[in-house]
Amino acid sequence: MIDKQLLKAGAPALSDEALERFDKYAEMLVSKNEQINLTAITEPDEIVRKHFLDSLALLDFVDLPEGSSLIDVGTGAGFPGLALLIARPDLKITLLDSTRKKLGVIEEILNEIGLQANLVHARAEDAGRDPDFREKYDFAVARAVANLRELTEYCVPFVKKGGSFIAMKGAGTDEELENAETAIAVLGGKVKEINKFSLDGCGERAIINIEKIIFTDAKYPRPAGQMKKRPL
Ligand code: SAM
Repeated sequence: MIDKQLLKAGAPALSDEALERFDKYAEMLVSKNEQINLTAITEPDEIVRKHFLDSLALLDFVDLPEGSSLIDVGTGAGFPGLALLIARPDLKITLLDSTRKKLGVIEEILNEIGLQANLVHARAEDAGRDPDFREKYDFAVARAVANLRELTEYCVPFVKKGGSFIAMKGAGTDEELENAETAIAVLGGKVKEINKFSLDGCGERAIINIEKIIFTDAKYPRPAGQMKKRPL
C-alpha cells in the first residue's frame, strides 16, 4: 500500500520487518477510517510523510535509551507512539487516549503486526493523578493534542524526575513557549532543547524537550475545566 522506499529514505534505520509493519498499519488505518474518524490523511504518500516520518522525527532529536518507558498522551490513531514502537520495539510504550474506539482500532493493529503496548483509556488529567501512572515514565510525548501551556500540565505529571516531556509542534512555537513558561516551571520542568526543522510535506516542525527536574506538586494536574479557566 505505501511506498516503502519513500519511508526508508526518510528513516533509513528501519528494518524490513518494520517497513512491513508500517505497510499493514497504513492499510488498516485507511480501512478502519471508513468506520471511525481516525485521520483526515488517507493518501499513502501523505500517510508516510505526515504521520509516519513526522512521528519518527522524534528519534532524530531525542535519545531514547534501550528499554525506556514512554507514554503517548492523546495518541489518537497511534501518533507518534505506535510509529515509535514499530521503529523501536525495545521501548515500553503506553498509548493513552480519552476515546475508547480509537484504542480499539490500535488494539487490532497491534494484534495484526504482532507488537505489544499498554493501552489506557482515560483522560490525561485523571490518569496523571493516578499512582499507577503518575511519575512512572522516562518520557511523555504528545502531538496535536493541546497548546503547550495546557499540554505541559497534562504531560509532565507522568514523567519521572530526570525524564523528559517531548512536545511535537508545528509553526508558532516561540509564542507557545512564551505562554507556557510559568506552567513549565510550576510543574517541575525546564526547557532542555528546542529543535526546529522542516519536514518534506509537513512544513515547519519543532520538537521541544522539557526535562523534569523537580517532582510535580500533588495539586497538578487539575481538572480540565480549571486548566481552561485558570491556565498556569
Ligand atoms: N496524537 C495524534 C496525532 O498526532 O495524530 C492524535 C491527535 S488528535 C487531534 C487529539 C487526540 O487527543 C484525540 O484522539 C483525543 O481523543 C485525544 N485527547 C484530547 N484531549 C485529551 C485528554 N484530556 N486526555 C486524553 N486524550 C485526549
